[in-house]
Amino acid sequence: MTIACSDCGTLQDLPPLTPRCVATCPVCRNRLESRTGRNLTIAWISSMATFVLLVPANLLPLMHISMLGMVRESRIGSGATALWNHQWVVIAGLTAALASVLPLVRFAMLSVVLSLLRVEVRVAWLGRVFRWTLHLDQWAMPPMHVCWRSCRQ
Ligand SMILES: [Zn+2]
Repeated sequence: MTIACSDCGTLQDLPPLTPRCVATCPVCRNRLESRTGRNLTIAWISSMATFVLLVPANLLPLMHISMLGMVRESRIGSGATALWNHQWVVIAGLTAALASVLPLVRFAMLSVVLSLLRVEVRVAWLGRVFRWTLHLDQWAMPPMHVCWRSCRQ
């Protein structure tokens, strides 16, 4: 497998990694690939937990401010609701889809795929659904994705 370093761009040919093996870039010491922490059960538990926790994350307030008798709350759907109330229907729909709906869809599909893999049931659409979850990764909750990338560096 040929992989490019995300920091310096150096191309490396990597052999298949053994469990708990970490490949680092010889130029800048950036972590290229690792086999630590890859476990189907842990992935399934993480996916199911994320799917379950997305429900209260969408329903409960993200922020609550109380000052001088005024109370303000912000939820994940607050932005979409405000846009909808100001007649920005298309943008409101996109905001709701990206912030609330697509993450739920993605983790529901990922949980189904991982559940079927755990019980060793192979159906014809399994690979297709998994590829859809990978495509949705870029669209479901983009701010969290950006934060995760910036926190890695
Ligand atoms: Zn590098």
